[in-house]
Parts: sequence; C-alpha cells; structure tokens
Amino acid sequence: MTKPRVAIFDLACCEGCQLQIVNMEDDLLNLLTVIDPVEWREAMSDQSTIYDVAIIEGSITRQADEIKVMEIRQRATYVVALGACATMGGVNKLKNNFAIHDVKKTVYGEAANMPHLDTFTVKALNEVIEVDFEVHGCPIDADELVHVVKCLLSGQTPSAPTHPVCVECKMAENCCRYEYDELCLGPLTRAGCDARCPANGFWCFGCRGFLPDANFTAAREMAAEHGKSLEDLESKLALFGSK
Ligand code: SF4
Ligand code: SF4
Ligand code: SF4
Repeated sequence: MTKPRVAIFDLACCEGCQLQIVNMEDDLLNLLTVIDPVEWREAMSDQSTIYDVAIIEGSITRQADEIKVMEIRQRATYVVALGACATMGGVNKLKNNFAIHDVKKTVYGEAANMPHLDTFTVKALNEVIEVDFEVHGCPIDADELVHVVKCLLSGQTPSAPTHPVCVECKMAENCCRYEYDELCLGPLTRAGCDARCPANGFWCFGCRGFLPDANFTAAREMAAEHGKSLEDLESKLALFGSK
C-alpha cells in the first residue's frame, strides 16, 4: 500500500508544536511506518511540491504567508492546522490590538524598519484557506495529532470535545483555581487537555480556544462575584482570544 505523503510547514511561531512531534520518539517511529514524510524543515532537508497531507504550524503575519498557504492548499488533499498559532492566530494576534508603529518600536526599538509588517493583520489559517482538521493547544498534545492522522488514514472524522475544560478538571478532582483567588478561563475553553494547567496548579489561559457557545457574560459575572476586575479578565481573554 502506498503511504500518504505528509509535508509539515511552519509560519510565524515558536515551533514548539513541531517539537512535540520530534519528542514523540518511539511513537514517531511507529507513525513513520504508515506515512511518508516528504518535507519537514525542522527534521529533514528534503523538499517536495507533491504531498497528500499538509500540516501547518504558525500564524499568517505577512502577505507572503497568505500566498504560501494558498499554494499549499492547492496541492494538498488535506490541510491540518497545528497548534494555537495556526488554529486561531495564537499569541501573535496580540499584535492586532495595538498600533503597528508602537508594536515595532517596542520589539525592535527606533531601528524598526520592516515595511512588510506595516499594514498586515495577523490571521489564523482558516481566515485564509479552508482547513480540514485542527489540532488545538499551545503546544499541541502529540497523542492528539496521532489521533487526527490515524483518522485521516482510515477515512474517519476526528472527534473533538465540545465541553469546557472545567468538565475534565472536575473529573480529575482538582481544586478550582477560583478557590485560590485566581481567574481561570476553563469555563470558556475547549476541553481535550485533561485540564493540564489546573492539574498542575495553574489557571487555564485558554490555549485550546474558546468554545463556540462560550458564555462570556457569565464569565464576567463570575469574575465580578470573586472580586476580580473586568480589566484583569479582558487581558487574560486577549492572550488567545484577540481578533
Ligand atoms: S501554538 Fe504555542 S507552542 Fe505551538 S508554535 Fe504556537 S506558540 Fe509555539
Ligand atoms: S480550576 Fe478552572 S478549569 Fe478547573 S473547575 Fe475551576 S474554573 Fe474550571
Ligand atoms: S488547561 Fe487551558 S491553557 Fe492549559 S492546556 Fe488546557 S486549554 Fe490550554
């Protein structure tokens, strides 16, 4: 049987999601028995314009990125968005909240001189091309990527939780971060990470994206009931929820 050709691409990001794939070790070797990697800059020097599955990490921050992903879309049967930068623009979208002059000056000082960044709004992959599957998280969970790839290979649609992180958090019997006088975005955020952050003593910062029916009004009310300022909540929401 011919193995599907898989290409992995990266745009603006920290490449931490690809690193999760590299770190799969034995599981990666198992995966390589059923797929044929033809391009993956972080792990191999080969390049190819012929592939069946394109896995794209990172957000779109330049006109050139838009052109690149449109070309990838034309070539690939399936496009998978890998990680929060690709699925929703990730932390890169924070830039969209500020005047570009201030952003460049803050990052690069008076020497900032990159005209290609001047007018461009950071975008998620699905704002430019059709995406077939999304692997959420910052970083992703490699097991979830394997699940998606297995589904692709067997013609199934990967399942994704439609409930909030709080459900997994309660099932794990974690003590709620609100009990520690902290704000937590778990009630708004898509589950699937086994409430990784609350389980390790940290509030959920929303890296898997907000649920389509997330109740922001209730979140604001709950924050107020716990004596938290609206500004504090909004700044937390902006980390992975900027437009
Ligand atoms: S989603 Fe997070 S870990 Fe993955 S590339 Fe973006 S910033 Fe890095
Ligand atoms: S810690 Fe966060 S995720 Fe867990 S129950 Fe409380 S609000 Fe929900
Ligand atoms: S608990 Fe929240 S921030 Fe942490 S991994 Fe899960 S979705 Fe991401």
